[in-house]
Amino acid sequence: MPSYAYFEKKFVPLEEAKIGIMTNSFHYGTAIFEGIRGNWNAEQKQTYIFRLREHYERLQDGCRVLKIALPNAIDELCRLTVELVAKCGFQEDAYVRPVAYKSSQALGVRLHNLEDGFFVLVIPWGPYLDVDKARCCVSSWHRPQDNVIPPQIKAAGIYINNALAKTEAQSNGFDEAIMLSPDGHVSEGSGENLFLVINGQLVTPASYNNILIGITRNTVIELAEKELGLKTVYRSISRSELYTADECFLTGTAAHVTPVAEIDHRKIGDGEIGEITAKLQEIYARVIRGNHPKYLDWCTPVYKR
Ligand code: PMP
Repeated sequence: MPSYAYFEKKFVPLEEAKIGIMTNSFHYGTAIFEGIRGNWNAEQKQTYIFRLREHYERLQDGCRVLKIALPNAIDELCRLTVELVAKCGFQEDAYVRPVAYKSSQALGVRLHNLEDGFFVLVIPWGPYLDVDKARCCVSSWHRPQDNVIPPQIKAAGIYINNALAKTEAQSNGFDEAIMLSPDGHVSEGSGENLFLVINGQLVTPASYNNILIGITRNTVIELAEKELGLKTVYRSISRSELYTADECFLTGTAAHVTPVAEIDHRKIGDGEIGEITAKLQEIYARVIRGNHPKYLDWCTPVYKR
């Protein structure tokens, strides 16, 4: 199946969507991106895009910070994204990547007086952390402070931080990195938020711990409360609490809910998938594929029936 992109206001085959080597955002990371999933439901022969609007709202927030003007209102961006995914026609899980960027063919480190561009591309994409349970390490790379590069927006340039951490982790034989905040508290994975289960309660780093406010994080918090009656505590978490927690898992659009079995060569709990983690994994998997009637509002069907 060929992939398509929405590029320069047209739907084009992915390989025809090209940008020039002078493009400002290529040099300075001046772009905001999103990662959205289209989840294939084989029984219904339907792809459901998960929390599409929330992803574009976060993109818009990032664009405000980087002074990027989006070409259309969010409703229209959602509409054309659905059209694009339908055009690709994949019968498998898809990943949707909108990018709003400084498209000027001009060098110069600034945000003002530069043209803005926007594209969306879609590719088939299965599991991201392709393991039943992840082995993690605490990274020597910390998340940046908001007054260095804001970690609450998905700015392209900031992902050098994430890439350094991920490569360090994988080079050392781990699946994923857990990064600390500048003040040494637990922040997040290189592409996921982090949750602990401590004495039957969910605990996750707060917004002031230099995290991206994940849409999967918000989803899991709501599902935990509504489906399992579990409240989430938002607070600073110290590194050693990672080692003593009963359960740990990572959440992200790409990674879904991924259990963590081990951190820094210490088993979490008994090193198996925790009870609450397993329940949340199961509920989340049903919700994102449109198999949970209560949460269908979060799922945008792509194909008309
Ligand atoms: N933190 C970082 C650094 C990420 O890149 C991601 C992936 N977007 C997340 C957390 C999880 O966010 P979401 O659940 O919205 O995908």
